[in-house]
This record gives sequence, structure tokens and C-alpha cells, in this order.
Amino acid sequence: MVLDNLSESLKSIMRKISGSSFIDKDTIKEVTKEIQRALLKADVNVKLVLKLTNTVQERALNEKPPAGMTAQDYIIRVIYEELLKILGTDSNFDLKPQTIMLVGLYGNGKTTTAGKLARLFMKKGLSTGLIAADVHRPGAFEQLQQISGDVNCGFYGEKEEKNALKIVRNGIKELEDFKIKIIDTSGRDSLDQELIDEVHEIKEKINPDTVLFVIDATLGQQAGPQAKTLHDAVNIDGVIITKMDGTGKAGGALSAVADIQSPVYFIGTGEHMDDIQIFNPKKFLSRLLG
Ligand code: GDP
Repeated sequence: MVLDNLSESLKSIMRKISGSSFIDKDTIKEVTKEIQRALLKADVNVKLVLKLTNTVQERALNEKPPAGMTAQDYIIRVIYEELLKILGTDSNFDLKPQTIMLVGLYGNGKTTTAGKLARLFMKKGLSTGLIAADVHRPGAFEQLQQISGDVNCGFYGEKEEKNALKIVRNGIKELEDFKIKIIDTSGRDSLDQELIDEVHEIKEKINPDTVLFVIDATLGQQAGPQAKTLHDAVNIDGVIITKMDGTGKAGGALSAVADIQSPVYFIGTGEHMDDIQIFNPKKFLSRLLG
């Protein structure tokens, strides 16, 4: 389970609410303080945390539970609803034939994610081909070729070619028979203009159906500004947060990208090609709360 510590804290708070014989102002205050602490530890932005706890307090104090529901269960429902708001848009990835363009900085897991997606789509019966359009990083071509061999999907690349757009055009033709085509674009160490121009040009000229932004969860809240800059440049349709395993900061990344209003479609949970999950805020939260 990702966000183990947060999950444990929230479960213990829920148990406390369920087990309390009555709910008064002090209980609510105490509970919201504990939620605050747990969320801040998981790196969720302070402003969001305060907004959430204020809303929970206000609702818990002023709203009456519907008939047949105990005050305890009602507060748990209010907490659930408010937590859901910071997890972002509840929208599932449409598993239909399409061309997907992956964008993101070096080391965030873009190339690995291309392979993971290919495996996931193929499991769902959608043939998938990968296009190696990272023309800058040495070894990127070989890495994607190797991954496509590992997951047994289609592959297109031109080892010596430096024009990413040309590769993508040829790749889309060559992989015509594949239901899903995934373009692995170049990354950079930072979001410089050259990168923006390159992905912008591919987006404009190729017009992929879906642009997915790949971001490392360990960046925490810093995921936010990156998401925003790329969203302004290429209009991100959805987000993939990688490396959700083994970071307590995932709450920061999740809530920060929720800010650009693009849904988080997938999360990466390890280095293996099977370590990817379709992200569904409601299910994720239910698991978090136990
Ligand atoms: P790129 O530069 O964005 O293409 O990044 P890579 O795909 O080469 O990934 C960089 C490193 O992150 C590699 O060592 C990957 O194995 C690792 N990685 C990618 N996704 C995950 C993930 O979900 N969890 C973990 N633990 N490692 C990951």
C-alpha cells in the first residue's frame, strides 16, 4: 500500500471517531488536529490542509446527519468527502484506440512508464507500439527497444535521427496496425524552452489524442509548478505519478497536480513492468481509510 503512514494515521482517527460515545466540539477539534498532522506529514500543502480541516469542522458542527445515520458515521463521511476533493478529478482513463504522447523531465520514469502502459493495455486486449522520440538522452533508444522486447509490444525508432518530429511521423505510419501508439518524447533536467518547443511542435503537428504528464511522486509539492508549466505549453490531458512506492511525500504530488484539474490516471508503484495501477480517487481513498 502506498502512503502507509498516512493510511495508518487516518485509520486510527476513524477508529477513534467510531469508538467515541458522543461527538462534541472538543472531539471534532481534536480529530481535525490529528487529520491536519497526518496530512502535513504526507506533504500535502498547508493551505489545502487548513481549508480541509476548517471545512470538516464547520460541516461537523453545523450539519445534521441524515435520518438513520449516527453523528460518528456522518463525520466519517464528511472527512471522506473532503479528502476526496484534494485527490482531484474522479475520471477513468478511456481504454480506446489512441495515440498517447508522454511528456516529463529526465528520471521521472517516462520510459519505464511507456513499457508499463504497453503491458497494461495489452492485458486489456489493445495492441500497443512504442515510438522512441527521445533524441537527446544517450541510450534512450536502446532502453525503450529493450523494454518493448521485455513486454513484447511493437517498437519504432531511428537510432541516428535527431529530428523527433520526423521519427514520430514515421513511427505512426509504421505502427499503423497497433491500436495504441505511445510516443516517448525527450526529457531535460529542467523545463527549458528547448524542451517546451520540442514537445509543443510534436503536439501541434501530430495532434495526439492524449497527452500524459509523467511525474515522480518523491518530488512532493514541487510536482505542482512542473505540471503547470507543461500544462500551459501542451495542455496535459492527464497525469501519471511514478514512484508512489516508498515515499511519504506522495500526498504532496497528488494534491499538487490536482490543482491543474487534469486527472491522475495511473500511478507507478515499483520498477517492475507490472508495477502500475489505474488510479481512481474513490477507490484509492477507500483503501487509504481501510
Ligand atoms: P525517464 O528519464 O523519465 O525516461 O526515466 P526512466 O524510465 O529511465 O526511470 C528512471 C528510474 O526510475 C529508473 O531506474 C526506473 O526503474 C525508476 N522508476 C520508474 N518508475 C518507477 C516507480 O514507479 N517506482 C520505482 N521505485 N522506480 C521507478
